[in-house]
Amino acid sequence: MPHPEVPSDRGEFYGAVAEWVLNAYDKDRYQRFKETLHPQLAERLENADPAEWYPVEDSRVMYERIVASFGKDSLVSFIRFYVSRAIHGFIRGLVSFIPPLGLAKRALALWNRFHSTGRPEIEMIDKNHGIITLFDWDYSPIHCKVHALWFAELIRTAGGKNPVVEHTHCVHRGDEFCRWEVGFE
Ligand SMILES: [Zn+2]
Repeated sequence: MPHPEVPSDRGEFYGAVAEWVLNAYDKDRYQRFKETLHPQLAERLENADPAEWYPVEDSRVMYERIVASFGKDSLVSFIRFYVSRAIHGFIRGLVSFIPPLGLAKRALALWNRFHSTGRPEIEMIDKNHGIITLFDWDYSPIHCKVHALWFAELIRTAGGKNPVVEHTHCVHRGDEFCRWEVGFE
């Protein structure tokens, strides 16, 4: 696929949303959720090409619709589902033999497969603490929340207990980059 002109995410995101709604709720709820979306977005739930690029702006709208329809805690449930789906896909096999921050590092190394912009870096402080910085990504506060949920869920998946992810720097609060401090037991 050619590199997109606007900041974009891969279409596999839309299929994950559809699967999650059907899994966590039911067909009726899924239909009602679809009706809250612009027709073009609704159509992507079923027809997005997983390998194609779609604007980051649209993923922001989708995350906001998820929260509006299913409540603020629904993002936790969605990201849990999404990470477990990803674990059975692109990072399958890594989970059983690498430590939590190692899994986060391996997953972040694949960032540009899924996002056309943004450059994550991870610094290991010790076995249970790390700092994740995301450069060149300035789209919406809801994406910051989603990224934090991904980090926590990756750590939990790799056996880290009680992950705490603190958003210490944010482009939406005037910082040059977004940064999260990650710790677990
Ligand atoms: Zn941020």
